[in-house]
Amino acid sequence: MHEYLQSSIEYLKGVGPAKGDLLKGEKSIFTYEDLLMDYPYRYIDKTQILPISMIKQSDEAVLIKGRITDIHEAGSGRKVRLHATLQDQTGQINLVWFQGIRYWRSLIQIQHTYLCYGKVSYFNGQKNMSHPELEPVTNEALKQLSLRPMYSSTEKLDSRGLNSKGQEKLKRLLIDSLRPEHIQEYLPDYLMKKLRLPTKYQAIKNIHFPSSTTQLSSARNRLVFEELFFMQLQLWKRYSARKAIISYAFDQVGDYVHTFYDMHLPFELTNAQKRVIKEIRSDLGSGQQMNRLLQGDVGSGKTIVALMSILIALDNQYQSCLLAPTEILAQQHYNSIRRMAQPLGLDIALLTGQVKGRSRREILERLVSGELHILIGTHAILEDNVQFHRLGLAIIDEQHRFGVAQRAKLWAKASPHPPHILIMSATPIPRTLAMTVYGDLDVSVIDELPPGRKPIHTSIISDRHRSRMYEFIKDQIADGRQVYVVYPIIEESEKLDLAALDEGYERMLVDFPRPTYQMSIVHGRMKTEDKDYEMQRFANGDTQILVATTVIEVGVDVPNATIMIIENAERFGLSQLHQLRGRVGRGGNQSYCFLIPGVRLTKVARERLKIMTETNDGFKIAEADLHLRGPGDIEGVRQSGDVSLQIANPITDKKTLETARQIVQYVLSDDPNLEKSINDPLRRYIQHYKNLFDWSVIS
Ligand code: ADP
Ligand code: MG
Repeated sequence: MHEYLQSSIEYLKGVGPAKGDLLKGEKSIFTYEDLLMDYPYRYIDKTQILPISMIKQSDEAVLIKGRITDIHEAGSGRKVRLHATLQDQTGQINLVWFQGIRYWRSLIQIQHTYLCYGKVSYFNGQKNMSHPELEPVTNEALKQLSLRPMYSSTEKLDSRGLNSKGQEKLKRLLIDSLRPEHIQEYLPDYLMKKLRLPTKYQAIKNIHFPSSTTQLSSARNRLVFEELFFMQLQLWKRYSARKAIISYAFDQVGDYVHTFYDMHLPFELTNAQKRVIKEIRSDLGSGQQMNRLLQGDVGSGKTIVALMSILIALDNQYQSCLLAPTEILAQQHYNSIRRMAQPLGLDIALLTGQVKGRSRREILERLVSGELHILIGTHAILEDNVQFHRLGLAIIDEQHRFGVAQRAKLWAKASPHPPHILIMSATPIPRTLAMTVYGDLDVSVIDELPPGRKPIHTSIISDRHRSRMYEFIKDQIADGRQVYVVYPIIEESEKLDLAALDEGYERMLVDFPRPTYQMSIVHGRMKTEDKDYEMQRFANGDTQILVATTVIEVGVDVPNATIMIIENAERFGLSQLHQLRGRVGRGGNQSYCFLIPGVRLTKVARERLKIMTETNDGFKIAEADLHLRGPGDIEGVRQSGDVSLQIANPITDKKTLETARQIVQYVLSDDPNLEKSINDPLRRYIQHYKNLFDWSVIS
């Protein structure tokens, strides 16, 4: 950016130190550039004058033009109001003011023509506008018909004359002083021509003060494209950098894989599982580092894919490790992998924070000597004194909980090359979003559930039908089934939430008395030993009901559990509800999920929960969740940190995102290192935002 735009905001005419501080504090606007980049969040459309007969009641204000044919006061005392009638060729509308009556009365002249702007409502079958903006029709006024930008404001800003209108004035001032050379152009000419995009200078002017909707959409299009283009360029470059990283070539497929595949497969693999294993095998044999994301809905069977990958590593004399985000999950992985791999006589250990003293020392020794084939565990694996003999493959479950620094630690555990990396995620991410969050990874998807799964019946239960639900649960328990009851707990209201959990537990004790019924309770505030003990009791079938917080969200596998009750369901995100629901439906029995709202639901909240009752498809739910909440709320997007989207929305700007990705490939296929002079602007961008393109931190 030109140095003019680096000027501190208080130097702009009409700002000064006091307002400058307000803009800094309330909107993080420090410089002229920041003010320019603070785009309108919406526009008031005053480009179109509508015929009165055409307007309908709506939330959007409309602009009309007509003659005042009547004006009079009605009512008396405090109920006095001013009525006027505005008429055009097509019809008439009633205008009303409850305040400022004297002012308006003196301003409005009968038989004169006005532009009138406001929201329309119906009253006694008549069209009404209360407190419209009114302005005499002049040539000047007609020329200024426009899209008015709206800028976000706060109470403090409002009170100091910096409401949307006040901010608009500042932007107008700044933009009027702008010259083309102030705005750095980062898109090459040939791309702007090819895509028919305006220059950045034009786009910035027009995003604030468009003279037509066409101009606005062209400006927005340009800015959205630029953001997505550079994001994709960054991801693509990082992807290629990753592709160049050497790792161990697992070119043998030997006894472990063959013996297991031919003799000990616990079930027939689904086609999706077979396909994914093939993809992984080809990565592992290539000599380059695998960086693959394995996506599969809960219950889609990712564990066996992990095991097969581990066996390939073993056939090439390499160790593997599997990292899970929680102790419970690590334990579960340990159990199921040990169970499946048992006939192969593998040496497998579990390492968590709980493993201490001699047993820990022993594990570490066997690990470094190479005796141990597989290490499964939590973050404890990342500690410096955990050293492998020959680590070749690291599998990370639910990676969004691991930070970049932690992954880097993992890398350092293998030498001379980093290990192959397989990331497993049960959080379905729609393809478009995956392109932004995981654009630098290869992606495999298990898009098929093992055969014979019965879809889970999901219903929304109001509190007054609780006892009926309890009767149903008792029948299920009598049939030998088990039940989860989940409560939301968030940090901000942890105390209250814990109280609700306790209360719910006590209440259930009344309906499900001991000794007929046995109940476990598990929450994050408990000691790990106690948690594990309670979880284990439930897993063993010693208790039939588990009252818990979301600690059970990921991975917990008790196939005999068929009922999931979610209390205060409206407080969970849809994807989270889907994860929770995935705890049931794991055995052969029909399973049920009951969503119990804690409050009277708004229409939107009900719509949201209804989606859960309509589909069991995690991808569909994720897509719906995105639309309802916006991508900013999706964990992965927030955490992709280095990519900040100001104006683009990867969901609604899906088409542009795809174009951007194609164009990146088109540009790089012609000029992989961006050395041609036509691509100077791109190089300037990379130069300017060096830190975004620094591959030394890749992990
Ligand atoms: P997730 O993808 O959620 O980790 P798991 O690997 O835990 O899923 O598998 C869920 C359940 O389905 C397990 O009990 C597993 O044994 C079973 N399973 C996995 N693949 C198949 C298959 N192809 N056929 C039958 N059952 C399978
Ligand atoms: Mg799993």
